[in-house]
Amino acid sequence: MILKIGGSAITIKDAKEPTIDEENLDRITQEVSKYNDDLIIVHGAGSYGHIYAQKFGIGDVIGNVNDHLYKLEGVCRTQASVQLLNYMVCTKLHEKGVPAIGIKPSSFIVTDNKRITLCDTEVIKRYVDNGFVPVLYGDAVLDYNDYMKYAIISGDQIIAYLAEQLKADRVILSSDVDGIYTDNPKTNPDAELLEVVTKDSEYVTTANNDQSDVTGGMSGKVKELLDLADKGIQSQIINAEVPGNIQLAVSGQKVKGTIIK
Ligand code: ADP
Repeated sequence: MILKIGGSAITIKDAKEPTIDEENLDRITQEVSKYNDDLIIVHGAGSYGHIYAQKFGIGDVIGNVNDHLYKLEGVCRTQASVQLLNYMVCTKLHEKGVPAIGIKPSSFIVTDNKRITLCDTEVIKRYVDNGFVPVLYGDAVLDYNDYMKYAIISGDQIIAYLAEQLKADRVILSSDVDGIYTDNPKTNPDAELLEVVTKDSEYVTTANNDQSDVTGGMSGKVKELLDLADKGIQSQIINAEVPGNIQLAVSGQKVKGTIIK
């Protein structure tokens, strides 16, 4: 099973500085610890990633030499920040008895035009086979495109890639909303939850004003998951902010949310 823990659930996404949501992290890791089978966790970067990614314009076309130096600093700062979040997530998982192994995506993933191209999943698979729980995350990576050289990969792109490569049985994404709505539920009170989404479903996604997410927010998520569904792997979006949801979902019980198929 591949479980995504949304950056919006474990960090305060609209904070000015990288800020952890201690209460949610504690509860969510406790819920995850109830699962006893093969598991890979991917978490979003939340405020630990997008603040730096946006400030330094990672993924934008690089201008002159000075701009490149600026981008180098940006990649370093983004990587260090999201690695710190990963360390905190893994430490919390250890406290709950989960054998979590933090794996740094930028150390073995290279993108081409922002899509994962180079990525050997053998190490991840071996950790799982030995009973560990690999924990990956959204990161700043090298990109083969010489005009941009670096890119941000979302946790959502990572789960879709791993799910396909490792032939996951179940893919669960948790976020700070119940699932995919007909419109952004944070700005439109009339938005209705869609229990099932396919490539023919009709819905609108908007970015939240206070959440500058460089990886596309809900629309980026749905795109990755529809591509995955196209390859025969369905996924489920649930709300990590509702206590008990993750525990129910990982144990295979019905939870309010959206199935993408
Ligand atoms: P995460 O960080 O958990 O991966 P994102 O912040 O990237 O999640 O995306 C979730 C956000 O997408 C929600 O907070 C919600 O406000 C926004 N959103 C925009 N349009 C929609 C929609 N049609 N349905 C559900 N959420 C939406």
